[in-house]
Order: sequence, then C-alpha cells, then structure tokens
Amino acid sequence: MELSKRVQAIKPSPTLAVTARAARLKAEGKDIIGLGAGEPDFDTPQHIKDAAVAAIQRGFTKYTAVGGTPGLKNAIIAKFKRENGFDYTAGQILVSCGGKQSFFNLTLSVINPGDEVIIPAPYWVSYPDIVLIAEGKPVIVEAGIEQGFKITAAQLERAITPKTRMFVINSPSNPSGGVYTLDELKALGEVLLGHPHILIATDDMYEHILLSEGKFVNILNACPALYPRTVVLNGVSKAYAMTGWRIGYCAGPAHIITAMENVQSQSTSNPASISQVAAETALNGDQSCITPMVEAFRQRNRFVTDALNGIAGIRCLLSEGAFYAFADAREAIARLHGNGMIKDRSDIAFSEYLLEQGGVAVVPGSAFGSEGYIRLSFATAMSNLEGALGRMARLLG
Ligand code: PLP
Repeated sequence: MELSKRVQAIKPSPTLAVTARAARLKAEGKDIIGLGAGEPDFDTPQHIKDAAVAAIQRGFTKYTAVGGTPGLKNAIIAKFKRENGFDYTAGQILVSCGGKQSFFNLTLSVINPGDEVIIPAPYWVSYPDIVLIAEGKPVIVEAGIEQGFKITAAQLERAITPKTRMFVINSPSNPSGGVYTLDELKALGEVLLGHPHILIATDDMYEHILLSEGKFVNILNACPALYPRTVVLNGVSKAYAMTGWRIGYCAGPAHIITAMENVQSQSTSNPASISQVAAETALNGDQSCITPMVEAFRQRNRFVTDALNGIAGIRCLLSEGAFYAFADAREAIARLHGNGMIKDRSDIAFSEYLLEQGGVAVVPGSAFGSEGYIRLSFATAMSNLEGALGRMARLLG
C-alpha cells in the first residue's frame, strides 16, 4: 500500500542517524558522551511536581476544555501581561500538548497547498517538515556565523512573494543561540508592515533561557502594529524543565486560535489535565526556580565556547540564549577530508567521525539547514562537557 504524498514529503530527521548510532555504540558498551539533548538536565522544580500530585489526589483526572482549563488560561494571560506587556483575552489563548503541537495546529490552520512559509536557517528541525505536512512550501533564508545567525531586513524583503503566507522567527534560537536585538526586530517588523498578507509566528520557547545581559524582547515589542497578525508561541518545556509534561501555549487573533483549537479537538483533544495544573503552578508560582538553571547554562556556555574556539578549524560564537553551541566546523571538515580521514566533506561525516573516533555525539548542522556546522547541547553536567571537549581537542588537535 502506497503512503500518502504528504507523508512521503517528510524526510527522516538527519539527527536520528547520529542519535541512533550513538545509542547503538552505547548499547555495545562503548564510552559515548552525548551532547545531542534538546532538554534541560535539571529536574522539574518540586512545587510544580507537588501541585500535579495534589491534582491526581483530588481526582482532577478527566477531560478538560479542549483549549485549556480556565485556570491555566488565566495564568497565561497574566504571564503575557506581566512579562511581555501583551494584552490577551481567554478566546485568544490555546494550550496544546507541547510547543510542537502549537506550531502544528497553527500551520494546519493557515497554510494552503503551495503557500510559502519563510523560515530563517539555522532553524528548529520541525518547522520545515510541519509546513510540508500542511503541503506548504518552506522558503529557507540562510544566516551564517558571519551575520550572527540572524537574517537581515533586506534578506526578508527579498524572500517575500505574493504567495508568502507566514514568517517564522525563533529568538533565542535553537540551534544557533542567536538573539535578535530590539533594533533588528524593528527592521524586520518594518518590512512586514509593508506586506499585510503575511502572518508572523514568533516562537519564544527559549524566552527565559537568556544568557546575555538585557531583557527578552520579541517582534511585537519592537513593532506593536503587527499584533493583529502575530501568533506568539511559548511553553513551559524549557523554562521550567518540563519537557515530558507536554504543555505548550500560544496567543493570537481569536479566529486563528479558534481554528487551531478545532484542529486540536480532532487530534489530541485537551492536553493532560494533570500537566495543565503543573503548568499553571509554574506560571503563577515563584519564578526564582529558573535562575539557578540559567546560571549553570551561562557558566557552561562560556566553557564550551572557549574550548571550541581552542580547537583548530572550529569557530564558535558565545550563545546569547538557549542551551546550545552552534560551531562552524567547515575548516576542520575540509582538513579531515583533505587528509582522507572522513569519507566526504559533510557535517554528517564529520559528526560520525567525532562519534566513532572520539566517542562524542553531536548533531550535524545540516539537520538545521546549515551545512558545515555542528550543534553541541550544554544541557548536561560540566564533567560531561569537560570530557567531551577534551576528547574533541585530542582528536582534532
Ligand atoms: N520551539 C523550539 C525552538 C524548540 O527547540 C522546541 C523543542 O525542542 C519546541 C518549540 C517545542 O517544544 P515542546 O514541544 O517540547 O514544548
């Protein structure tokens, strides 16, 4: 039986190849240090867990409203007001099973076959494939290390066509760690103001993992006039170390949110009732639980970046947000290929070499649309990072 064209358009994730090989080598008893993780290595804070246990004990274990409980929606409305200065009503909020489902619901709700979606690269791996599931066309705009992994207003302007339906922006970025400044966002906002047919999706999932000084801002702070056509995506997964609880949320124009809720009502229905109580506690509770995590990420960020820049042929910027180092390995790849150490001049071959000869698992940049780079997660203990960077230095030294 032939599979649908829709599903055939989705490529298997290139990250999976390396991850699967890392798992196999580990199972064979090899000593592998994994730097592929996309989640905090910290535990969910105790007060959040306690609230979930209490929810189970009092029997809060049934279906809820599809789009989220009133309590959680109110917590989200208060969060947007308190932290971002945005005003939303309950009809403009949707709670989903993770940030990934929020983006999925959005894309399915607004994209028709052939509609173009502008996605800056390096990008979070799921954006293009979710657009393909909706039979849209991902339009990739590349931003390399020389421009801090951030696209310019001129690049955005050039990518826009009459078929452009959505523009996706993710700051702080997974994988690059780049953070757009208010002025950079203003410049992008100016371009978008000239094209009223484009919806803006701002993915603020790493809002709280801000490693540089300064306050978090997104494109709506820079350009409030975009409010009627912007959807703000966020969630509790990264900020509160809650990846397994599966709660994402978003806010935007009521008719789009209603459509997204309809999509969700015919797929998963409501997110887990218990997780919603946990998320409500996370958003309403003491925010100081985030600080020690961010402090640890800052310290590891400095260590990893310095260590990478000490290796010949590798160049890395200090990440301004999220918990990844995105290193330019093009010189190292060319050298190894020239010496016949790797089979081709690709970041996949390079990552395989690091894994098999060095025992270090990283994710090749091509998975994120940026060939020649590697992503290292520093959401792991300092001892693992010291071990991994030591191995890489010896192998590539
Ligand atoms: N957005 C970005 C940029 C991410 O990196 C992730 C997770 O890796 C998500 C959204 C989705 O998060 P989740 O579905 O785990 O809430």
